[in-house]
Amino acid sequence: MSTLRFNVIDEALKRKAVEVSAPADRASDYFGMKVFNEEKMRKYLPKKSYEALMETMQHGKSLSREIADSVASGMKQWAIEMGADHYTHWFQPLTGGTAEKHDAFVEYDGKGGMIEEFSGKLLIQQEPDASSFPSGGIRNTFEARGYSAWDATSPAFIVDTTLCIPTIFIAYTGEALDYKVPLLRSLQAVNKAAVEVCRYFDASVSKVNSYLGWEQEYFLVDEGLYAARPDMVLTGRTLLGHESAKNQQLEDHYFGTIPTRVMAFMKDLEYECWKLGIPVKTRHNEVAPNQFELAPIYEETNLANDHNLLVMLIMKKVARRHCFRVILHEKPFKGINGSGKHNNWSLGTDTGVNLLSPGKTPKDNLQFVAFLVNIMMAVYKRNGLLKASIASATNAHRLGANEAPPAIISIFLGRQISAVLDKLAASTKDEAIVFDEKSGLKMGGIAHIPELLIDNTDRNRTSPFAFTGNRFEFRAVGSSDNCGGAMTILNTAVADQLVEFKAEVDALMAKGETKEQAIFSVVKEYIKASAPIRFDGNGYTEEWKAEAAQRGLDCETSVPEIVGQYIAPSNTDMFVRMGVLSSKELHARAEVKWETYTKKIQIEARVLGDLVMNHILPVASRYQSQLLDKVFKVKALFGEAQYQKIAAQDLALIEKMACHMEKLQTLTEQMVDARKVANKIENERQKAIIYHNTVAEAFDAIRYHADKLEEVVDNEMWPLPKYRELLFVR
Ligand code: ADP
Ligand code: MG
Repeated sequence: MSTLRFNVIDEALKRKAVEVSAPADRASDYFGMKVFNEEKMRKYLPKKSYEALMETMQHGKSLSREIADSVASGMKQWAIEMGADHYTHWFQPLTGGTAEKHDAFVEYDGKGGMIEEFSGKLLIQQEPDASSFPSGGIRNTFEARGYSAWDATSPAFIVDTTLCIPTIFIAYTGEALDYKVPLLRSLQAVNKAAVEVCRYFDASVSKVNSYLGWEQEYFLVDEGLYAARPDMVLTGRTLLGHESAKNQQLEDHYFGTIPTRVMAFMKDLEYECWKLGIPVKTRHNEVAPNQFELAPIYEETNLANDHNLLVMLIMKKVARRHCFRVILHEKPFKGINGSGKHNNWSLGTDTGVNLLSPGKTPKDNLQFVAFLVNIMMAVYKRNGLLKASIASATNAHRLGANEAPPAIISIFLGRQISAVLDKLAASTKDEAIVFDEKSGLKMGGIAHIPELLIDNTDRNRTSPFAFTGNRFEFRAVGSSDNCGGAMTILNTAVADQLVEFKAEVDALMAKGETKEQAIFSVVKEYIKASAPIRFDGNGYTEEWKAEAAQRGLDCETSVPEIVGQYIAPSNTDMFVRMGVLSSKELHARAEVKWETYTKKIQIEARVLGDLVMNHILPVASRYQSQLLDKVFKVKALFGEAQYQKIAAQDLALIEKMACHMEKLQTLTEQMVDARKVANKIENERQKAIIYHNTVAEAFDAIRYHADKLEEVVDNEMWPLPKYRELLFVR
């Protein structure tokens, strides 16, 4: 009898919603209370330090040691008043997630006692013992030094009793070992390139920011049920499990009423987020049972990304208080939707213009079209690389499966924008470049794009990169990803494209064309050149796969192969040109991605093997033996002549089970053998490819037979919580 499974179901059913109340009536009263934000800087820092720090935050000026000491002292005072007793440099290693090593504020005071100490030196830079973080070969173990250094553009905050200082993480030799360094570099690159292009339209623009609004999807599973699933505990997903008779087919979960226990969790999570200055705004049920979403108001990309990483961390903590586990895996359950993290992205100027929003005047519209078309070119040229930015062993279950996103990157523009671009591309030069002081610029006879934009809700859920009225939505990012990976590639690709655009426009102007004429010519040329990336149809169809291949888009589906994009010469050149990643750093990143891929599949393979051998087969045998026992008794009672007829069903079932059990055992042994072969390969790329082609390849067939057994084995004996319990008991 499977008592554990029934016990955890019982416990789960007894749990009540844990109500937690907000620190104050209104969110605005406690928003940011745990953040060393501008308000606290003004309060806790001398004027001179405050001003210097603002300069650093806004214009990237470096901080002197003296100012750093003063900032550290103010920060420490605030943190101690808030009850903090430790501090940590909080960084984003290539393993994913975040890392932290806590140190207490205490130091000897030299008189036999202790004082609370936190110097500018400790604020600015630290040397965590970093030898265990992946570096892709950048750091030799004998030179395992890595430094974390304060990113003053993202404010410090307090979690529990620890002051967390957002930092970058670099090797002793200066190479990036994290997600933040390249992200910051890419933001600089896109700022520089975009400002130059903006100045064609408005000389007063001096900064362009990249904005990110992420939509975090997640599952909640009762902690008891979760604990009884070794696959969920060790791999974050279910490797086995027959589909529940009811799952998402009735579409009754999406935007449905939020269950009480979940609502209590969500409120608690929101309180925590608001205290940490994370502007979360939207919460709702997602498509799959027990799947939910949380989205904030968008922010500058670096801060938004820090906030997303923090949210993933806080979610896990808060879930524990409510006896839930948060599942951030991209595909925790077979047969229902997985989780992603749509990255809503845009560029905006310090003059308050969203460059992806059609403007009021024809001049604004030309600027809008110029940026739109450059982004299309960038995504077109780097479609394979963008896919690499979101490719992982876990996200691979969504890529290419029939749910967003398809494994081919394409852009959805919507009917109206498409029509505008097509008209522009087809317009004759004379039509297109009339510049009339009164009515402004006539874009091929369509001067007023805003009036055309009635239908922003024109949406295509199958598109991995969709224009949604005033931003692009990169939907292929995985739910557990650090958005920094995708955002670095996108911003770098756009920066590189804008630099090229400017060079082309300048060259035409040098030949005597007016600025408008020149911009128009290049824009028209880009609309035509980037046409293959535009796709408004259903991205899930087989026809699209065939057509995309014909259009020359990247259709690779094997994650280890996709990762190779990082070191493809044209991509390496771009990263180097934009100063975002060096060739050495790129090779290291690809190595880490291959290594991580292999390890994840290796762990899954081991867990699957153990589950089959220790959980499924023994229980199936026991049930089969009960049936056999019965057949023997039937035979004893009814005799040779009749027993076969009387026990016909049992005999058929015994045989059916024997067949699945035999297959299950053989396939599992073959997978273990394949793993042993793959483990001997030294080259990380090759190893990952073989893991993909032989080990991961075997999972589905193994699962098939295990799930078939689940269908027939006595429910009372089945040891693992079933899908219908994991997804519906709460
Ligand atoms: P959906 O309808 O796609 O589910 P939401 O309305 O929930 O989307 O918003 C998605 C996210 O897009 C939010 O985080 C929102 O702040 C963000 N967003 C809105 N406008 C922009 C923009 N201009 N740039 C970046 N993100 C934006
Ligand atoms: Mg969205």
